[in-house]
Amino acid sequence: MSRKKLIAANWKLNPSSKEEAVDLISSIKIGLNKIDLSSEINLTFCLPFIYLELIKNSLKDTQFKIGAQNCYFEEKGAFTGEISALMLKNSGIDYVILGHNERRSLFNESNEIINKKLSVVLKNNLLPILCVGETLKEKEAGITEEIILSQLNESLAYINCTGENIIIAYEPVWAIGTGKTCSAEDANTICKLIRNKLADLYNSSVAEKTLILYGGSVKSSTIKEQMEKTDIDGALVGGASLIADEFVQLVINSQNKK
Ligand code: PEP
Repeated sequence: MSRKKLIAANWKLNPSSKEEAVDLISSIKIGLNKIDLSSEINLTFCLPFIYLELIKNSLKDTQFKIGAQNCYFEEKGAFTGEISALMLKNSGIDYVILGHNERRSLFNESNEIINKKLSVVLKNNLLPILCVGETLKEKEAGITEEIILSQLNESLAYINCTGENIIIAYEPVWAIGTGKTCSAEDANTICKLIRNKLADLYNSSVAEKTLILYGGSVKSSTIKEQMEKTDIDGALVGGASLIADEFVQLVINSQNKK
């Protein structure tokens, strides 16, 4: 079955000013305007909260979507410093990254917390990009599959996945921001494992419809091979999404048909 690909840019805690954010998105827009972006690919930019509305405005004449990098699991109340899924929805945001490894490891987000966030994000009709992935220690211990399956079991508990309402990103932790890319073959093996797990948890139609991305030091030079794999439907891109020319080239190179 053919799934519409997705490239999701994750700007993380960058850049440092609104001017730089606008400059970056303008350069990307100009670069992408020059190419014939096929209808087989969607693009979303997952930004720091403070830039969401500004960049949404810069992209209003394009098909590109905007995403957040996190949200809280309560909708309102005394939760100083948090942003709710409802606020994101009411601001016209489409996507939200959940369970990124930097949230898991630096902010102690457990699968249980991610599960609560997923539930409220779905209730508010946002599209979550749910990240899973093993650490280097887990990989070396030979328990990658076990880790991925338990992350899926716990974060998807009691969640109704239709195949169109949740995107999964496989991000081996050892490949995030390190320059070490997982081989396309190995990434595809884990993406296939995720798809099989979705078939077990839900059914084969949900599994076939679900977009599964790969993330971890994706570059313009690696994307083509990754996108040619049967179970990789796109990429979650950190560092390379902060360099306009590199990101534009990455999008161009991602467009080859399977
Ligand atoms: C990410 O932010 O999810 C990511 C994969 O980062 P990078 O592309 O820099 O490894």
